[in-house]
Parts: sequence; C-alpha cells; structure tokens
Amino acid sequence: MALLKLQNQIPPAVGINWSQIWNLNVPGKIQNFIWRSLSNVLPTMKSLRHRRIEIPEWCPLCRHEEEDGLHALVSCSLVRNIWHLTSIGSYIGSAISLPDWWQNLTTTRDSSDIEMAAILMWNIWQNRNDVVWNGKSKPAALIFSSAMSVHSQWVASRNRPIPRSPHPIQQ
Ligand SMILES: [Zn+2]
Repeated sequence: MALLKLQNQIPPAVGINWSQIWNLNVPGKIQNFIWRSLSNVLPTMKSLRHRRIEIPEWCPLCRHEEEDGLHALVSCSLVRNIWHLTSIGSYIGSAISLPDWWQNLTTTRDSSDIEMAAILMWNIWQNRNDVVWNGKSKPAALIFSSAMSVHSQWVASRNRPIPRSPHPIQQ
C-alpha cells in the first residue's frame, strides 16, 4: 500500500540509463545530485507541496510558474539564460519532465557535453538554494563561469599524473 502510494507520487523515469550517471566523469556529489533530481526527490516547491508543506508553489527565481525539477534546472526563463551560454543551448523541445529532458540529452550529446550539463545543473541548484535561503541570485554569466571552472578543475585533477618521489626510498 505504501509502495503503491509512492509510485503514484513519483512517475517512473522510463528509459533513464542509471549506470551512466554513476559512470559520469564528474565529482561524486554531482553524480548523487543528478541521481536525486532524476528520481524526483529534489525538494522543489511542487514536491514540498505534495508533502503537504504550506509554501507557495511558485518558482523562487521567476515567481511566475510552478517549480518542478524541469522548471528549476532547465526551463525557468532565468535558468534558460544560463543554458543559452552553453553549447547545449536552451532549447527544450517536447520534454515534459526532467527525466524526459535528460534522456534526450544523453542520447544526443557526447560525454563531455553531458558532464558539463551535470555540473551546470548542480550549480543552478546551488544558486536556486541561495535565492531561497539567502535571497541572493547570481547573474547567469557568473553561474556559467563557476560551472566551467568546476569542470576544468575536475578534468585537470583527473588528468594530473601521480608525482614521483624525488628521493628514492632507501632500502
Ligand atoms: Zn522560474
């Protein structure tokens, strides 16, 4: 019964390649974040209202539309300004949910674009939380550039050779 109730609240994300998320070449906290956002467990305004928490359903950024995962991370007009700066762009097509959009992204883009998108989604969510908790929002260009810097630092750290000890160990 409890499972049935849960299934009614969370539409199944058909077609998501879950193992691909854990194989993304991004920090573990970002893999985890993507998994949570595609599993519909992000505390968006819509999901909090489903849990009977008395809050406005409006997106804290645009205050214009209901905030679900797709809106918070991709389709909000303010978030689209950030995607617009990337090679992925802000076109959403016929996606009606975040898993839908993600599935389209991961089947049409290469791994470098997918990793960059994952890092950007994480940065977009951090900014959204800053708006909710501190009333501060960063400009789109700054959110984009901090995501790019996380990405390049991560790539550099993965590619750095393990330094050899300058002094051979004495036997
Ligand atoms: Zn919005």
